[in-house]
Amino acid sequence: MTEPTVAPAGGIAFGAEAEVLIVGGGAAGMVAALAAAEAGAEPVVVEREAVPRGSTALSAGLIPAAGTRWQRDAGIADDAARFADDIQRKAKGEADAAVLAAVTRAIAPTLEWLADAHGLAFSVVTDFLYPGHSAHRMHGLASRSGAELIDRLRSAVERAGIAVATEAAARTLFVAGDGTVRGIGIARPDGSEERIGCRALVLACNGYGGNRALVRRHIPELAEAVWFGHDGNRGEAVLWGEALGAELRHLAGHQGHGSVAHPHGILITWAVIMQGGVQVNALGERFSDETEGYSEQAARVLAQPGGIAWDVFDERIAGIARQFEDFRSAEAAGAVLRAGSVEALAEAMKMPPSALAASLAERGAPDRFGRDWTGVAPLAPPYCAVRVTGALFHTQGGLAIREDARVRRAAGGVFPNLFAAGGAAAGLSGSRAAGYLSGNGLLTAVALGAIAGRESARLSRAV
Ligand SMILES: Cc1cc2nc3c(=O)[nH]c(=O)nc-3n(C[C@H](O)[C@H](O)[C@H](O)COP(=O)(O)OP(=O)(O)OC[C@H]3O[C@@H](n4cnc5c(N)ncnc54)[C@H](O)[C@@H]3O)c2cc1C
Repeated sequence: MTEPTVAPAGGIAFGAEAEVLIVGGGAAGMVAALAAAEAGAEPVVVEREAVPRGSTALSAGLIPAAGTRWQRDAGIADDAARFADDIQRKAKGEADAAVLAAVTRAIAPTLEWLADAHGLAFSVVTDFLYPGHSAHRMHGLASRSGAELIDRLRSAVERAGIAVATEAAARTLFVAGDGTVRGIGIARPDGSEERIGCRALVLACNGYGGNRALVRRHIPELAEAVWFGHDGNRGEAVLWGEALGAELRHLAGHQGHGSVAHPHGILITWAVIMQGGVQVNALGERFSDETEGYSEQAARVLAQPGGIAWDVFDERIAGIARQFEDFRSAEAAGAVLRAGSVEALAEAMKMPPSALAASLAERGAPDRFGRDWTGVAPLAPPYCAVRVTGALFHTQGGLAIREDARVRRAAGGVFPNLFAAGGAAAGLSGSRAAGYLSGNGLLTAVALGAIAGRESARLSRAV
């Protein structure tokens, strides 16, 4: 693959011209396209793959939003300010305050618009709280899968008559002397190149998790981790940003996950832990406060003997986890061990029963790791266990943006017509894995997608 490049726009002829050109057909790109079309522009999406899916299709498809009608119907009190506080607490104050305020305010009306204008039937998850959220605010479609989310968005884009060029990998940005992007060069699978001009460009091509060299450079602790995101996430936004003189922020920030069934490679929902389960290593010993979050848990699990751990929970908790298609798949694949006693479970897990029993008996408010067990039901037979490892899900660092999704220059100010959304933009999680609050990924994909679509349409119409 040729490296992504930035080239001078002078003298370049473009075969076609888009009012708003969007690179990437995941949640951010599809929502940007719908928003740009609604704002009166004619967007064009270019997507590397034959079918746009992205990491969005691999996700649980759960989008956090505060103050939605689904929350009100369920009697949940919540608002954007409270949501922003939760994100900032997890990010240790590192999230850009203006972007944070814009995103947390935008997401509830955006989900309601996607439901009303495009038929996405969201509901709110009410039976468990994700770590760090002070209210039930995860919204998802019926299957609680990202595959359904992206399929619905793709259908909405098709119904809206928006052009989506597939098998079209953006490679070159053609940029004028003042930083205006005049168009892009795309590579086709047969090696041919096409050029598309634009009035505004939205980068929605996610982060660099699928680019090993960039992962090694920015997140060395996960250099050997399972890559669980989409292979199309190759870091073009970061590489173009470096070449353009854009401000790049929090490149070490990421979403890891400490609970991917191994060797099955199936996500085991963190609900198994939040409902009262624990993680032990191969010796049967606990090693952390698991409730701090699944993201930072990836590196902790990888640091255990053999780079693995076990999620231990019970049948009541399995009943809750079963609402997730992934969990049902893990059960069907034989990844979930079951036993009627701790001794039998330890035998199946090939570890000392006394160590496992001691780990399961550990309680406290807080315990020695800082986990607070107040109000948490003890595990009861039959018990369940899944062998898991740590994985990298997506990167959170990227192009620094303003609250209107315009990309910032390293030297100050913004580029005239360049926008970023979703994983291409710096997220709200700060510079560490521990800063990732569940849902920050799709939150910035969907909310910034809507903002970038609207703002780029406004700009393109004004040109
Ligand atoms: C297993 C897993 C579970 C997750 N669960 C959740 C969850 O429940 N909630 C949550 O909020 N987040 C979750 N996330 C994170 C979430 O999936 C991402 O943050 C989100 O999908 C990012 O959306 P996006 O549109 O920016 O990127 P993507 O969905 O990855 O879309 C980017 C698209 O751009 C295309 N592309 C890339 N480069 C180019 C190029 N040069 N030219 C053309 N096209 C290009 C790619 O092929 C891809 O289709 C999860 C992630 C994973 C991996």
